[in-house]
Amino acid sequence: MLFTELGLSAELLRAVHEQGYETPTPIQQQAIPEILAGHDLLGGAQTGTGKTAAFTLPLLQKLQSSTVEAHPHRIRALILVPTRELAVQVNESVVGYGKYLPFRSAEIYGGVSINPQISKLRRGVDIVVATPGRLLDHMERRSIDLRQVEVLILDEADRMLDMGFVHDIRRVVKVLSSQRQTLLFSATFSREIRELAHEFQKAPREIQVSSPNSTVDRVTQVVHPVDRERKRELLSHMIGKDNWRQVLVFTRTKHGANRLSKQLEQDGLSSSAIHGNKSQAARQRALNEFKQGEIRVLVATDVAARGLDIELLPHVVNYDLPNVPEDYVHRIGRTARAGQQGTAISLVCVDEHQMLRDIEKLLDQRLEQVVLAGYEPDPSIKAEPIKTGRSNGRPKNRPNNRPNNRPSQSRGAKQGASASRSRSGGKPSQRATGNKRGSGASPRAGGAKPGGAKPGGAKPGGAKPGGFKAASNRGRSSNSSSGGRSGQARTR
Ligand code: AMP
Repeated sequence: MLFTELGLSAELLRAVHEQGYETPTPIQQQAIPEILAGHDLLGGAQTGTGKTAAFTLPLLQKLQSSTVEAHPHRIRALILVPTRELAVQVNESVVGYGKYLPFRSAEIYGGVSINPQISKLRRGVDIVVATPGRLLDHMERRSIDLRQVEVLILDEADRMLDMGFVHDIRRVVKVLSSQRQTLLFSATFSREIRELAHEFQKAPREIQVSSPNSTVDRVTQVVHPVDRERKRELLSHMIGKDNWRQVLVFTRTKHGANRLSKQLEQDGLSSSAIHGNKSQAARQRALNEFKQGEIRVLVATDVAARGLDIELLPHVVNYDLPNVPEDYVHRIGRTARAGQQGTAISLVCVDEHQMLRDIEKLLDQRLEQVVLAGYEPDPSIKAEPIKTGRSNGRPKNRPNNRPNNRPSQSRGAKQGASASRSRSGGKPSQRATGNKRGSGASPRAGGAKPGGAKPGGAKPGGAKPGGFKAASNRGRSSNSSSGGRSGQARTR
């Protein structure tokens, strides 16, 4: 199918052509006609599938052809997203695809001054991309008028629920016209998502173009068992040896991200850390430098990395496994974007075996384990508890912390690995020992060849469609990047 067959206007086709897209992705092929026909839509799609264009293109077209009389100070389309970074990225898409159209858009998120946003809104905006907390601040100040919203889009709705935004979303939706069109996108169709759809939508068309794990299927995943104190050494070795130019590394904590980034710099690898304690400007700067190849390693916490779209990102490393298994899927979704292949490597120490089992359970897949020569785990090292700051591995519900409304990242976990001690006898070689599990391909790192004993219970095969579910409502505390304090608007 071609973009020209989707019924999009000449202005939009020109903008799409300039993006270099040749054919619409499956979610675009199916969602665009449904949205243009005026249906509410429940779209099952992860980031990386082209879902942003799947809703932005028909949204722009609908505004273009709408007969509703536009009022300069009323918002015509509202896109709700879970994080600031996603707000920036979605607005970039709105600006890019709407290049030849007269609409003005703004991104509204917390963590920056609210005043420029108010000024921008006063000058007139058609499309707002907002995080829920900051949007409520504007509603309370009456600096935004949502009564004329024709299209409401809930992007990454599962993440918003996961982050405890459901009450904020309800408060927003309450002021919208019931005549609106509502589009809801989510990586998963959990019971909570269906309830949300039932509450906000009218007879939605349902599209789930591929299994939620389709991105995961394109990622070569491998686990390298390693001692907690030798992870940093192994990471530097892998980056240097295979000359990785762009690698996104996940740590569990903000402190751990800072420390690792500093240590990598000491190892001669240019690096920056992004997490909830960094200003939005600092995060954006680090991201831009990373995208432009000025830094090789971006060390990020889960919250900071949500919504990052770095085209053709080849390598993702889980320096620490995430506390919440679902985050593993989101992390590795940073690679293998838009149909590309990617590699996700997890450095797993003895403390993290249960976390690994939880992830494998979620994926319904055993991950290939490759012990790299020279980095064999020392069997005498005993597991230490990982402090998650939660009960049962789940975040504790916290009271809504508005009006500041900037939830802190609450994954106060102990950083699992950091020291740069080099163990004797271990010049890493190309040879690898270890267990081959599951169906993954050989990892690139170290040219390691899987082989050896197969642990019991290994279940080969790919991930099961629908095999992962949205985490339960975590309260706002897990969202440090979408806070409701001030924010900066940007329009075309
Ligand atoms: P998304 O799922 O919206 O986060 O998009 C993921 C990536 O796919 C972005 O980098 C888009 O620029 C890219 N993309 C979106 N639509 C297409 C398309 N039809 N062909 C190629 N790339 C696309």
